[in-house]
Amino acid sequence: MSRVNLLGLRPSELEDLAVELGGSRYRGRQVATWIYRKGVLDLDVMSDLPKEFRASLRERGEIALPETERVTPSQDGSQKLVFRLEDGSRVSAVLMPDDDRLTLCLSTQVGCGFACAFCLTGTMGLTRNLTAAEIVGQLVSANRLCAEGRRVTHIVFMGMGEPLANYAALVTSLRIMTDGRLGLGYSPRRITVSTVGIVSGIERFGREGLGVNLAISLHAASDDVRSRLMPVNRSWSLETLLAAVRRYPLANRQRVFFEYVLLDGVNDSAEDARRLARLLRGIRAKVTLIPFNGWEGAEFRRPPLAKILQFQSTLLGAGVTTTVRWSKGEDIGAACGQLREPIPA
Ligand code: SF4
Repeated sequence: MSRVNLLGLRPSELEDLAVELGGSRYRGRQVATWIYRKGVLDLDVMSDLPKEFRASLRERGEIALPETERVTPSQDGSQKLVFRLEDGSRVSAVLMPDDDRLTLCLSTQVGCGFACAFCLTGTMGLTRNLTAAEIVGQLVSANRLCAEGRRVTHIVFMGMGEPLANYAALVTSLRIMTDGRLGLGYSPRRITVSTVGIVSGIERFGREGLGVNLAISLHAASDDVRSRLMPVNRSWSLETLLAAVRRYPLANRQRVFFEYVLLDGVNDSAEDARRLARLLRGIRAKVTLIPFNGWEGAEFRRPPLAKILQFQSTLLGAGVTTTVRWSKGEDIGAACGQLREPIPA
């Protein structure tokens, strides 16, 4: 029987495991409390568990965090964390402080197979999906790096990989993060899952009832430009995608986030802005404009400031809530679309 990383098990799965090992469901709840509520990862410290039960747990599994290989601070206060996984693969996460917020951008895959033209991660190709333990492990590790009394307040699934392409591990990790009784206790409203637009995944995800925020990487207002920038658009057109978004269940006052990377001369014209406003009509939307973050070999450039502001003001004028995200961590290769780690030989 293969050993299991307890860090990736939902509290109810820890209860099942406890029963499988001859204990009661209560023992499973105790383990969940130690790991997720108290942040204790050493079985020897779990003093209220009988010795024999701890021995069976140790035989059956482990509680393993990904190794934090590097922490690189940026001049703007953000930090890029590089994790080395058991098989030698590496993924990154980014910690971004902003007043009393501390946002963690985490990864769901090693590399990414979606090949968006403006994204450095997309040049890596997909190596593999992360396990739920490796996703949750990024958050637990980031919290351990925080100063005493602080922890990550917001989580965005916008690092390496396409979350909905790693569906089961994504949903398991979200259930662990949002379980307020025995899990990590994050409010779903403080978690955002960003997708490139996998329509079948969006529909299924909407039925999970998780209540987390949905973000769509849109990046173009016409199918021809979007298909050029994002091959996924050849499978699901803008019309199909936005129809799925319209059906996505939203709570009161909850909105769908749309990300739009601004590329000079590609998708930043006044007509693009007007078309985007028309596309989003009837959707409770918030648009985030991301001026392109360059990388070596990229074929795109960031538009001049005046054009960025003009694009924003056209959207605002059409009644679309729009902000500009001046990405953090650009100097350390941690900004949006800049994450890439070497693939082991
Ligand atoms: S933008 Fe997202 S989906 Fe597209 S290649 Fe980059 S990581 Fe993959």
